[in-house]
Amino acid sequence: MESARDKNTKEIVEAEDLWMLPHVDRDGYECSGCEQPVYPASYLKTNLKRPHFSLFPKTDHLGDCDVDGERKTVDSGRKGSVRNELETSPGLSPSRLILKDERIAVDPTLPKSSAQTGSKSTTRTNSNDGATRPAGRRPSNTIRPICRAFINFPFDRNMSLDIPGIEDKTYLTAFKKLGAANAGIEHFSRSKVFYAEVAWAKTQATDDSLVIQLSAGEWNAERQLVRKYMLRICWSQWSNYKRTKVQNEMEVVREEGIKEKKSKSKKRAYVFFIGEQDEQDPTYFNVTDHRLICGLVGELSW
Ligand SMILES: [Zn+2]
Repeated sequence: MESARDKNTKEIVEAEDLWMLPHVDRDGYECSGCEQPVYPASYLKTNLKRPHFSLFPKTDHLGDCDVDGERKTVDSGRKGSVRNELETSPGLSPSRLILKDERIAVDPTLPKSSAQTGSKSTTRTNSNDGATRPAGRRPSNTIRPICRAFINFPFDRNMSLDIPGIEDKTYLTAFKKLGAANAGIEHFSRSKVFYAEVAWAKTQATDDSLVIQLSAGEWNAERQLVRKYMLRICWSQWSNYKRTKVQNEMEVVREEGIKEKKSKSKKRAYVFFIGEQDEQDPTYFNVTDHRLICGLVGELSW
């Protein structure tokens, strides 16, 4: 499972965010659909595999747990529209991005609070007669669940999406692929969720920044990439925890992408981000917030 609910704060935690925690409580999480305990896996900062949550052995989701249904919706969503399901499932297709005040979250020595871990879950509420009410689309606190929905539901990209600072308000219009249609290095006047395939070169870290090469830009007649788009994560003000999370995710997605390509699968490694195009050098995009970048492997279809 890609996310779970923190038992104490009742907030949704994305598995990648475990990389950012000074201490991971193995007994601190439950399924967001049915409250069955789940445990975090491969979250060690040195372990370059994507973290996730799993049910404990010999346990299963309870009742008509949303999470089970969501898996089926993702499968169907690759073949056709699943709009009705998306309108009533909380986590699959976020309606908007809400960035919370992080002043508490950046200091891991402070006690856990509701501001620390992310989106409050709007779960189904049981009314007195035992009936349940669909929760509707939950907002997201990072772009990752939004980008996942963009990949997962190619037939539902006309759904609404409200990201502060981005004028275009559907999945289809809010995203923009870098280097599409052999356009070379472009100047972008509107803010978008930009994305591109990750290059195979390793990321380069300094005290001030992490630089990621993208496999997109200007190609010459010999089909060589002569000017690449680059992503600069400006992290001089970040804690080591945040740096670790972003650097790990970028390394993991690069490795995942190399594996997919070698296995001849159609899945590719993409980095998604919201950033400012550099004024001096338009091949560079600068990203300043760790919640506005993610790396995902998937097959992008239209
Ligand atoms: Zn469940």
